[in-house]
Amino acid sequence: MPASLIDGKAIGAAIRAEIKERTAQFTQRTGIVPCLAAVLVGEDPASRVYVRNKGKACVEAGMLSRQIDLPASTPEEELLDLVVQLNADESVHGILVQLPLPDQIEESKVIEAISPEKDVDGFHPVSAGRLLTGQAGFVPCTPYGILKLLDYEKVDLKGKHAVVVGRSNIVGKPVALLLLARHATVTLCHSRTQDLPGVVRSADVVVAAVGRAEMVRGSWIRPGAVVIDVGINRLPDGRLVGDVAFEEARAVAGKITPVPGGVGPMTITMLLHNTLEAALLQAERSRS
Ligand code: NDP
Repeated sequence: MPASLIDGKAIGAAIRAEIKERTAQFTQRTGIVPCLAAVLVGEDPASRVYVRNKGKACVEAGMLSRQIDLPASTPEEELLDLVVQLNADESVHGILVQLPLPDQIEESKVIEAISPEKDVDGFHPVSAGRLLTGQAGFVPCTPYGILKLLDYEKVDLKGKHAVVVGRSNIVGKPVALLLLARHATVTLCHSRTQDLPGVVRSADVVVAAVGRAEMVRGSWIRPGAVVIDVGINRLPDGRLVGDVAFEEARAVAGKITPVPGGVGPMTITMLLHNTLEAALLQAERSRS
């Protein structure tokens, strides 16, 4: 029997409906409308689409969206000044600087300039440190969305072997920490891992976050395993595929996310979640 599909679109929509409801209640109670400020530097078409979609999702959830467009030639100092202004602006609750940034700007400097209270992307070292040490903080949206998918699908992680392929700060490392916090036994793989197919074959849960089209083959998947495909790769013929060879893996796995419609919709969903949390926290702090 082929694997059942993990429908990120439907799960994302259900969570967004809850967020919209909670946002309306928050606004009614406090008069505050949560606001996400998204900064876009340059003209990268993919980044432009991402930022537009994030803004649209905010408005649909009853939040405010502020988009600040800067030219690709913007000096680092100017972007840092803008972040400082947004940190101080009480009407802004979440700040997102769309990556990648042009070469003259050091990404880590910009991320570190964002107030940890407004770090809705969860990329600030303070947020990363909180995740590492198990303290409450903003969790990066894609890994958080993956955990929500597993929760909705009632995947029992305790004592299970989870294999994460990819060790980026944005996806691989935080997802590994989240799985570990749920008591999975976690193996984190990367480009130097020996016998990757063999390691993946021992997994109850596989998370592929590599950025290589259809690299994880069906023959790597243990029968019945849960497969989460984070990859978004555009093939020369225009098709969008993940990091997992979907049809092959589907024939073997127990559950699998499609691309598109799996992890993708969860990322923006969790950004909305984090923005509402940021507004709640800031409202609480200003009351006390
Ligand atoms: P990065 O390029 O930052 O990281 C890729 C990771 O994969 C690295 O750790 C790299 O290892 C590892 N890797 C590369 N080649 C191999 C290989 N042959 N075998 C094993 N490991 C390998 O990517 P991201 O984490 O940012 O993104 C991963 C994918 O997820 C991309 O397709 C991206 O588009 C997608 N993505 C999707 C999102 C969504 O919302 N659905 C959000 C974010 C990303 P090493 O460290 O050794 O170089």
